[in-house]
Amino acid sequence: MTKMPSTDEILTKDAHLIQSFANLDALKQADARTAIVGADGVHVIDSEGNRLLDGIGGLWCVNVGHKRREIIDAITEQLETLDYYSTFYNFTHPKAAALAAKVASLAPGNLNRVHFGNSGSVANDSAVRMLHHYFNRLGKPKKKKVLSRHGAYHGSTHLAMAMTTPAYSDGWDTAADGLVHHLMEPCHYHRTDPEMTEAEFLDVLIEDARKAIHDIGPENIACFIAEPIQGAGGVLVAPDGYNKAMRELTAENEIKYIADEVVTAFGRLGAMFASQDVFGMTPDIITTAKGLTSGYQPLSATIIDDEIYEVISEPGAMFLHGMTYSGHPAAAAAALANIEIMEREDIPGRVKTTGKQFETGLKGLIDLDIVGDVRGSHFMIGLEFVRDKATRTPFEADANVGMAVAQHCQKRGLVARALGNSLILSPTLVMTPEQIDVVVGTVGESIRATMADLGR
Ligand code: PMP
Repeated sequence: MTKMPSTDEILTKDAHLIQSFANLDALKQADARTAIVGADGVHVIDSEGNRLLDGIGGLWCVNVGHKRREIIDAITEQLETLDYYSTFYNFTHPKAAALAAKVASLAPGNLNRVHFGNSGSVANDSAVRMLHHYFNRLGKPKKKKVLSRHGAYHGSTHLAMAMTTPAYSDGWDTAADGLVHHLMEPCHYHRTDPEMTEAEFLDVLIEDARKAIHDIGPENIACFIAEPIQGAGGVLVAPDGYNKAMRELTAENEIKYIADEVVTAFGRLGAMFASQDVFGMTPDIITTAKGLTSGYQPLSATIIDDEIYEVISEPGAMFLHGMTYSGHPAAAAAALANIEIMEREDIPGRVKTTGKQFETGLKGLIDLDIVGDVRGSHFMIGLEFVRDKATRTPFEADANVGMAVAQHCQKRGLVARALGNSLILSPTLVMTPEQIDVVVGTVGESIRATMADLGR
């Protein structure tokens, strides 16, 4: 066992590491950074020896909890058998094959063909590349544009970021500008007319999509990409019936529907895949990552339906796409062991109860003076803080109230994620009811402490 370096030793070397989605200037202060050195179950341990409840499940990904022995053993065993081989050309290997079959058996409808990547961003890029090729093969090469939405997060590669809400690339370029059209953000709390009901807002959203399809022309649009619930945009929940209505509208216009289930699949909302089981619709493509291996290995999947597969695999077609680590044996082994745990322990089934307790507990904090909205479902929850609740007046963009609350949480033993003036919670899916009460209590206390700091 190598000796664990001290906090100072870690942070001195860390000056060379570029953190993601961070204010790099602020991070030049070493005490602004937290080094996590260990984890087990629902906890992580920082370099000062503090044991913290992991309220964000790594990064919405450690679904079965940290350091599960079966997954570690499966990875080790795989590396001892076959460390690496590709799934390029005519090669395959047992774990990639078994995982593709397993994922196909869990995915809804005719989504039976799986291409692996190594991140959610890549899964989404892959989906769009495949659809462009699909329409080329159908003799419809003009069908290229992508409909996405404000509030979306689809990843950080150039194309995935172009599909993400423009708010995420302020000051940065995206190579696919012009290719992507962003529809309205679907969150009812952010609607401009405070009197508008959810049902009326749904009509507005569908009308916005209908108009965009008309203006751009369906003959120019390849696909619509949507998270069942927008995560990194602030846990933005569309009105009831939205996903289904968009499914119908896109199908009418020969626009393929990509459901980005990078966060929502593998138990977080109480189902292996949320599209069909939670939202009652089957898309043409599902992309997923995160909970697929519970974060133990980097792996993503682009799952396409039989009809798309038939076209891209017809005689004369060539599949000119893939990554060196597509279906990496150790990652595939991790995913198989992870899914086995989920099925054996019925984690999606348990989440229906424990996730509801989590959701109900946090939604109970709505009475606090600065809590404007608590959104989301099961183990995917966002709290939005506002200056004036009655008028829904936000705090200034740079008020960083989310960070203030997150820091109070961390002092009290809970890792939570700040996002502007919101707080995001997306913990492991294996917390006990008692631990859930602790998280809810800690978030409440931290909001009260922040209110005291603000003189409220
Ligand atoms: N889609 C969604 C919905 C996500 O939340 C994320 C990551 N947070 C991604 C795609 C991108 O995944 P990755 O960071 O693995 O590229």
